[in-house]
Amino acid sequence: MQRKSALTRRRTAPPEIAAALVRWQKQHGRHGLPWQNTRDPYRIWLSEIMLQQTQVAAVIPYYERFLKRFPDLATLAAADEDDVLTLWSGLGYYSRARNLHRAARLVASEHAGIFPNDFDAVLALPGIGRSTAAAICVFAHGARHAILDGNVKRVFARCFGVAGYPGDAAVADELWGYADALVPHKNVEAYTQGLMDLGAGVCTRTKPRCDACPLTAQCVALKQNAVAQYPSPRPRKVLPQRRTRMLVMLHAGQVLLEKRPGSGIWGGLWSLPELAESDSIDAVCATRFGVTASAKKALPEVAHGFTHFHLDIEPLRIAVKKIDTRAAAPGVMWLSLADALGAALPAPVRRILAALD
Ligand code: SF4
Repeated sequence: MQRKSALTRRRTAPPEIAAALVRWQKQHGRHGLPWQNTRDPYRIWLSEIMLQQTQVAAVIPYYERFLKRFPDLATLAAADEDDVLTLWSGLGYYSRARNLHRAARLVASEHAGIFPNDFDAVLALPGIGRSTAAAICVFAHGARHAILDGNVKRVFARCFGVAGYPGDAAVADELWGYADALVPHKNVEAYTQGLMDLGAGVCTRTKPRCDACPLTAQCVALKQNAVAQYPSPRPRKVLPQRRTRMLVMLHAGQVLLEKRPGSGIWGGLWSLPELAESDSIDAVCATRFGVTASAKKALPEVAHGFTHFHLDIEPLRIAVKKIDTRAAAPGVMWLSLADALGAALPAPVRRILAALD
């Protein structure tokens, strides 16, 4: 059964759109991606999570490495979170990995280890939204559900001439109305894959290839000669700027890493210790990490953008001359630089460590 939000108003959409997409997908769409040609919900789920905010080419090596280490849901559920985050390291948006791991454990404990096939049960798992749940149910079971990820929002906004920023609830609701109305009764997998392929490779954000699109006859934006105006961009707002200092403590070729709390920015990742504005470096080194610093040097600043603020990081290189046993406390570890670069690190911390000479 197709699911509709209570708010979503069903739209009318010409049935030839779905038929054109199915035909086009069969002829021109992607058929050999590593997560295609399977009905295994674990593999499909993993791919859908990795593909959120990340392009196919970047996902493929991560997907293959992940499956090699965690070939099924039971292995993932039994894994240590650190191992999961390490395999995710570099892919970004680490909450996806933490939620994937939590969801695997929930499936193991509450669904006897079998990935649910009911849409609402899939949607109830951590990290799975309406569009992702729909994609999993479509590809794993051929069920009729509508997807509406970022690329598909762009396709529909152009095809149906939906004005406004798709992040606004009213605009998203209108787009969901079209998404629900379009789902065909047959070939739902090819239709869904066709939408994804069209959004990724033809109806792209810049320079869409309308001459290769199967929806030219219906596309409102094309008829209006206004493709570039859809969808409306996110309303501009000035993001707050924050600063932090990070300690790069080095001793005998090793660097000190500290595990971040499980929730919040970079939750559960290994990072460089942060210093508050008023903290004294020597006091923090001694009391928090049991080390005595000899030389200190400011390293080049690193900037990092989050969706809701910008962060400027001021790294400080500390040559450590003495360590006492408190440095081995839980949540703190010394690693060779090579091993540290293989740990689950936030991207800017990786950049700081990679630039060390
Ligand atoms: S005709 Fe162009 S703008 Fe319209 S849906 Fe196709 S690619 Fe997108």
